[in-house]
Amino acid sequence: MKNDTVLLEQIVTPEKHSFIRKKENLKGTIWKLQADAVVIGSGAGGSVAAAELSAHGWKVILIEEGSFFNSENFPEDEFHALSSMYRDGGVIFEEKGQASILQGRTLGGSTTINWQASLYPEDHVTNEWREKFGLSGFTQKENALFIKQVHERLNVHTVPESLRNENNNILFRGSQSLSVKPESLKNNSKGCIGLGRCGLGCPINAKQSTFLTYIPDAISKGATIITNMRATEIVDGKTKKVKAEFSPHRFKKTPSDIFEKLEISAQVVIVSAGAIESPALLLRSNLGNGLVGRHLKLHPTQTIFARFTREVKMYEGVPQSIVVKSPLPGINGHNFWIEAAPYRLSLATSLIPFFGKAQFETLKNYKNLQAGIVLARDGADGPVDSSVEWKFGRRRVHYQLSRSDAQNMLLGLKTLAEVQTAAGATELVFPFRRFTRPVSVKRGDDFSWILSESPDTFFAVGSAHPHGSIQASDDMAKGAIDGNFELYGHKNIFVMDASVFPTALGVNPQITTMSVIMNRARALASLNHRDSKKL
Ligand SMILES: Cc1cc2nc3c(=O)[nH]c(=O)nc-3n(C[C@H](O)[C@H](O)[C@H](O)COP(=O)(O)OP(=O)(O)OC[C@H]3O[C@@H](n4cnc5c(N)ncnc54)[C@H](O)[C@@H]3O)c2cc1C
Ligand code: SF4
Repeated sequence: MKNDTVLLEQIVTPEKHSFIRKKENLKGTIWKLQADAVVIGSGAGGSVAAAELSAHGWKVILIEEGSFFNSENFPEDEFHALSSMYRDGGVIFEEKGQASILQGRTLGGSTTINWQASLYPEDHVTNEWREKFGLSGFTQKENALFIKQVHERLNVHTVPESLRNENNNILFRGSQSLSVKPESLKNNSKGCIGLGRCGLGCPINAKQSTFLTYIPDAISKGATIITNMRATEIVDGKTKKVKAEFSPHRFKKTPSDIFEKLEISAQVVIVSAGAIESPALLLRSNLGNGLVGRHLKLHPTQTIFARFTREVKMYEGVPQSIVVKSPLPGINGHNFWIEAAPYRLSLATSLIPFFGKAQFETLKNYKNLQAGIVLARDGADGPVDSSVEWKFGRRRVHYQLSRSDAQNMLLGLKTLAEVQTAAGATELVFPFRRFTRPVSVKRGDDFSWILSESPDTFFAVGSAHPHGSIQASDDMAKGAIDGNFELYGHKNIFVMDASVFPTALGVNPQITTMSVIMNRARALASLNHRDSKKL
């Protein structure tokens, strides 16, 4: 097999359009192609699906809206990274400002800019999928083959203690001195030296994002990868058509002679645009039942910043190496976890719930701040009442934290405050709007008051884990896609990304997305794609 760097040179970036035009003698602004399958999106789901189908001899074309960034051209500063590699130029805002969501918009999707924590849900979650949604085959044991293959390809391993940074060490030490037990996290890197730039793209290609793994795998088996093309519509029919339009690099001059539009005819369409954009694409294409876009899960987070008398430098080192799980049973199997967050200055500033001088003073000594986050497994009160809709030519996200999810969040914040003070924090910045400055704290302080806080005073929840917005079920009254992830009512249109989960994962989603999608993509791939009776 050719080496991965050579394979990446085959990616069709805008600079190559002119050459293709000349070689194929193509005129006009529309480029027309044909494939067995077209995959829309190159993140955790799409790249794995493309690699599986290509490996089985399918002619695959994958299109990605974002640009191709890699270690040679990742933006150096946070401003340029957010605006060119993140969706909506940095943050997707919920319609009423209740949530701010981070997602990648670059080759490799969110895996290119994620923080690498590598987890799989506990069996009570996947048992719930089988019992309530008829979706089987995904307990840790049942899906073990696929989890193992993903772990091997991505070099998933426990983060060594030598690479644990102070941001995570504080969680480790603070929770050890209480009755809560810290656990080490696994991540997907090879040769990581703890530069702490994961969120901006790893400058030494240590993080094993999909653009370095499954995308080269797909190319090596003949797949065509086209960046800077945004799918605008899927047209159903015996042969499907995916229409896309050119999506320029935010800061680079667009070459002359580019194709402004792309039309791909294919037997099979795989929608892998992520849990926000996949439902938006299906909705604007008028495809699917009333559950497309419903029950969006966010794995909502809240942050407490803790001030220490020494340097923490949350932005240096491996972002996440410790998790503190709730010591309590939780509500209906829904619980909270605590992790560290490697916020750089813009994100940190946006998460401080007060302004002006108090905000400036808080951030002045930013390197002494530690950031702990509480992540709640949403859905404790039943199906999450949140959605993605397409209305008046625009995608809109609606999210409402339910009462029990908020209760779990408050329990988590109380535990996090105890952990941070046990580790020696002197001030805490709470995510409640009523506070106008940090609160002085000391070891042993009682934080029971947090449990009486009203969710109405919460600062907007954050999320980097949107999922479950096109949920799967063998019953079309409960899901928008069936157990093979095929869209109800639309043969040969599949959804293969983090949208498919019927209930919230409760863990960071990348490994679950890859291994669950690999499972179903391999089943699809093994069908003879030229035998239309089987497809
Ligand atoms: C900052 C950050 C940190 C994270 N940290 C972790 C972590 O530590 N551990 C973990 O497990 N998970 C983490 N995640 C989440 C994880 O990366 C995602 O859950 C996972 O990548 C989701 O896979 P996906 O295929 O659904 O979507 P994505 O990986 O987001 O890929 C979707 C792709 O589709 C493209 N696309 C969208 N619309 C279109 C269109 N119309 N046409 C063409 N292309 C389109 C997008 O540009 C994007 O590249 C993090 C995410 C972020 C943003
Ligand atoms: S911590 Fe640094 S070296 Fe390690 S994967 Fe992240 S960006 Fe790369």
